[in-house]
Amino acid sequence: MNRISVDLPMSSPLLPHHSQPARGVLAVVLIIAALIGTACARTAAPSDAPGAGARATAPTSVPIPIVAAENVYGDLARQIGGDRVVVTSILKDPTVDPHEYDSTVADAKAVAGARIVIKNGLGYDAFVDRLLAASPRPDRIVIDVGHLTGHRDGDNPHLWYDPATMPRVARSLADTLTRLDPSDADYFAQRLQEFQASETAVDDRIAAIRARHAGTRVLATEPVLDYLTEALGLVVVDRDGAFQRAVEAGNDPPAAAVVAFREQITTRAVKVLIYNRQTVTPVTTQMLALARQTGLAVVPVSETEPEGMTYQQWMLDQLSRLDQALSSP
Ligand SMILES: [Zn+2]
Repeated sequence: MNRISVDLPMSSPLLPHHSQPARGVLAVVLIIAALIGTACARTAAPSDAPGAGARATAPTSVPIPIVAAENVYGDLARQIGGDRVVVTSILKDPTVDPHEYDSTVADAKAVAGARIVIKNGLGYDAFVDRLLAASPRPDRIVIDVGHLTGHRDGDNPHLWYDPATMPRVARSLADTLTRLDPSDADYFAQRLQEFQASETAVDDRIAAIRARHAGTRVLATEPVLDYLTEALGLVVVDRDGAFQRAVEAGNDPPAAAVVAFREQITTRAVKVLIYNRQTVTPVTTQMLALARQTGLAVVPVSETEPEGMTYQQWMLDQLSRLDQALSSP
């Protein structure tokens, strides 16, 4: 199924980055992976506990190479690590559905060279597990956000939309970086403090919207915003129902679910349609058109962080779009 996003506000005109795997590069990567694999075959699997897998005595070269499976965590790594880190983010293309992503040779190389890998977990970025397994490293630290925040497999994976998530990842990153580079402890502590200070604007905005709109019924094509709508006290109709689950998995929703979804729009039983412009199917496109036709407020949202924005700016932007839509007549 073709799931390329349609032309909507905020989508940047980036080309899909299908990198052509160069055979020579692939061969080198495989040989290196095999050599490392032989040397480290008996080491434990990467641990979820930051630092648990690192040898305290291993010298750390600065800048520390970090790979983030999702660019929202890559942004955070930059905010905390500053010029003491070099960050590579894998999922960042707004025209690609992250749920359908296939990793590239470049991703494999980046993971093989990373000292810290941040992954969302909960099956959202299972490709990272395969890349980690293909290039074992005893000194690599894996931050699994799902485990860090106490989630279990099967939980909604869009964890960065939970206001509680990013402060915890930020603390974990500051701790991990300090362990690897103790001489820059003050630097990381200072940057963590700056992040926490700017994060309060997001929390304040959520509290303000919740105070005005809690209990309002909304509709969503995909469960990307569930944690945020919960924090806002909004009621998502048929949350995590057949329609949303099918779209998330790239399938066609059952006919009855489509009928029910349409009815919510045409009868204006909801105030807003939250439209995931990164998990687009023919059915979601139809629902978007129907909402526009009916005059229902639509809030387009995305899975990856838009280029040129920080996490805080992105959240504030989406929150003000939501606020505006919820306040519409
Ligand atoms: Zn999703």
